[in-house]
Amino acid sequence: MIRDPEITQAFLDSVRTFVNERLIPAENTVAETDQIPEEIVQEMKAMGLFGLTVPEEYGGLGVTMEEESLIMFEMGRASPAFRSLFGTTVGIGSQGILIDGTQAQKDHYLPKLASGELTASFALTEPEAGSDAGSLRTSARREGDVYIVNGSKRFITNAPTAGIFTLMARTDPNNKGSGGVSAFIVDAKTPGITVGKPDKKMGQRGAHTADVNFDNVRVPAENIIGGKEGMGFKTAMKVLEKGRIHIAAICVGAAERMLEDALKYAMERRQFGQPIAEFQLVQAMLADSKMEAYAARCMVIDAARRRDNGENVSTEASCCKLFASEICGKVADRAVQIFGGSGYVADHGIERFYRDVRLFRLYEGTSQIQQLVIARNMIKAAS
Ligand SMILES: Cc1cc2nc3c(=O)[nH]c(=O)nc-3n(C[C@H](O)[C@H](O)[C@H](O)COP(=O)(O)OP(=O)(O)OC[C@H]3O[C@@H](n4cnc5c(N)ncnc54)[C@H](O)[C@@H]3O)c2cc1C
Repeated sequence: MIRDPEITQAFLDSVRTFVNERLIPAENTVAETDQIPEEIVQEMKAMGLFGLTVPEEYGGLGVTMEEESLIMFEMGRASPAFRSLFGTTVGIGSQGILIDGTQAQKDHYLPKLASGELTASFALTEPEAGSDAGSLRTSARREGDVYIVNGSKRFITNAPTAGIFTLMARTDPNNKGSGGVSAFIVDAKTPGITVGKPDKKMGQRGAHTADVNFDNVRVPAENIIGGKEGMGFKTAMKVLEKGRIHIAAICVGAAERMLEDALKYAMERRQFGQPIAEFQLVQAMLADSKMEAYAARCMVIDAARRRDNGENVSTEASCCKLFASEICGKVADRAVQIFGGSGYVADHGIERFYRDVRLFRLYEGTSQIQQLVIARNMIKAAS
């Protein structure tokens, strides 16, 4: 749903200009320094990117899923690290509070998240609980008006700079399944929390993940999301479902950018006396990539519109994430092929994108987990 086509178009134009003039020229610096320049961070805050999904009454832009998808198509054209900077705050880190939080939690946290004053991280994965997140072991034991949290989380995006963690922990030790899990808002400065060294990753330099350890961390009982125990896994799944459409939109943007770069190169690079774009075998790679990126774009828009209409989009969100992340990988591979040897060396940035986009098939549910969700929903609907 687009609330106001003119305002949306104006915002999209400003994001496109920002991506072209500020982010793309800074990509090499970010890759070399592993940091996003502070002035770019401030510009992102000023544009309202941290508050995209936070309702206007809390100081955000309150975009719909369709509007968010269109914005992510644009953002996806720049190195994924830029999106990652605010992605957890607008997405998985804040949505638990927005979807299931109490009024007091919304009033307290959402304005600070919207302004970018607070960065939110989503802490679900553990060393022994990845795809099987419902088996997580981090415990939260109630003692009077606090919970005592113990455990470890792994690969937590933005953990080194997080102001709060949306933490999933087991409040019912007798329930080893997802029903024993609750979600908490945890201030990152609480004594007993230690953040490990940033992980050395395959790509997405400039975006940081780390382990987070909780050692007898005292979390006020009022910080349990929604005020009720046992709802945390459901909250996490609702958050991830929305996040899957968001990630799929980023994959579309990244695929379109790589294709743009590959097309430009193919038209300039000459072999056998003509531009390589004239060769039909190169054209096949361009055409297949275009077709797939277009299909993914249409899927994302359809799923986003359905979600905005209040439909249950569990299946569609997983279809989008699965398809868009897989085709993004294929487009990256073909783009390297079109660049030839130049695609393998760092000069053109395409090898960096190739490594960066590999992550999309892994996090927020691997491709295999999306397949399971889709098939499970199909079987449930048919029986
Ligand atoms: C850079 C990065 C950022 C991340 N950010 C966050 C974050 O902010 N917050 C957070 O909580 N987590 C985060 N993660 C964790 C991410 O979501 C997990 O890595 C992912 O869910 C997969 O879990 P795993 O790594 O333990 O793999 P595993 O679950 O061990 O899976 C390994 C392989 O087995 C397959 N597999 C597992 N179960 C099944 C099954 N039932 N059927 C078929 N195949 C199966 C998987 O698809 C995969 O191919 C991040 C990870 C990375 C790398």
